[in-house]
Amino acid sequence: MKIIDIIKNDKPTLSFEVFPPKTSQNFESVRMAVEEIAALKPDFMSVTYGAGGGTSDFTADIAEDIQKNFGVPALAHMTCVSSSRAKVRSVTDTLKDKGIANVLALRGDIPQGFDLASADYRYASELIREIREGGDFCIGGACYPEAHPESEDSFADLRYLKEKADSGCEFFTTQMFFDNNILYNFLYRARNAGIHVPVVAGIMPVTNAAQIKRIMSISGAALPQRFVRIVDRYGSNPDAMMQAGIAYATEQIIDLFANGVPAVHVYSMNKPVIARRIMENVSSIIA
Ligand code: FAD
Repeated sequence: MKIIDIIKNDKPTLSFEVFPPKTSQNFESVRMAVEEIAALKPDFMSVTYGAGGGTSDFTADIAEDIQKNFGVPALAHMTCVSSSRAKVRSVTDTLKDKGIANVLALRGDIPQGFDLASADYRYASELIREIREGGDFCIGGACYPEAHPESEDSFADLRYLKEKADSGCEFFTTQMFFDNNILYNFLYRARNAGIHVPVVAGIMPVTNAAQIKRIMSISGAALPQRFVRIVDRYGSNPDAMMQAGIAYATEQIIDLFANGVPAVHVYSMNKPVIARRIMENVSSIIA
């Protein structure tokens, strides 16, 4: 089933993200966690893709497992900046063979010292166009309510986002954010910039204090005082932080649905307990 059709139906869409194992030794333990999440029957699940080889080979396998064994539609991430055209073709062929109809087309982070001028792909829009020509996929892309860290400014970022939509992107999933007003403001600016495809809100439940540094380095997301106070108060108590982080994320999700956002994607980080508690907290809201 195509993700755009799931998002466009009237019911609020709730989905989870998982990541594949780094090595084949971890495959079984990751698969067990992913299967526990899939058993909750979210509307779809996305599987990330390692930027430079490694875990990328397992993305299609995990996505296939989710679809075949649980009937949950899978969204396979795919990056291009460190890939050749031949590799991209081979990955799309594999996805087709495995019956995966949904791809999140990304540039990927640029490896240190990498010469972008000699790359086969420089931007996600190039990958989107190629996937569009190569098969009947539903293609999604990434967007950044607080602008991508490399962008000149938020106006340029929106111009390039429109280019992705014009290239064939049917929906966008956002980078994590911790203040819903940032998303509402972004949605308003995106519509004004002529971007009319649905936006799936990406929510990261922060369940341990150590995640914060990593979040800041990946996303540069603004941390509201209310959120900082929770981490300051409960960060050194793992059980309390887990409860508070899930409660904060739940509150964000309820507010998003109440304000008409059609779909929320939870960065569930291969943790079934997070996915399960969030599902329970919003069960009547998404019914
Ligand atoms: P692009 O859309 O290509 O944008 C990258 C930068 O280039 C932006 O600053 C943009 O403004 C600028 N730009 C775009 N087009 C042009 C142009 N024509 N001319 C000049 N500038 C331009 N990474 C992984 O490795 N694996 C994953 O599975 C993964 N999943 C992700 C899922 C989501 C929802 C998100 C938000 C990010 C994910 N990432 C993943 C991270 C992503 O790869 C990085 O953020 C990467 O740096 C940018 O990817 P992009 O697809 O947004 O790039």
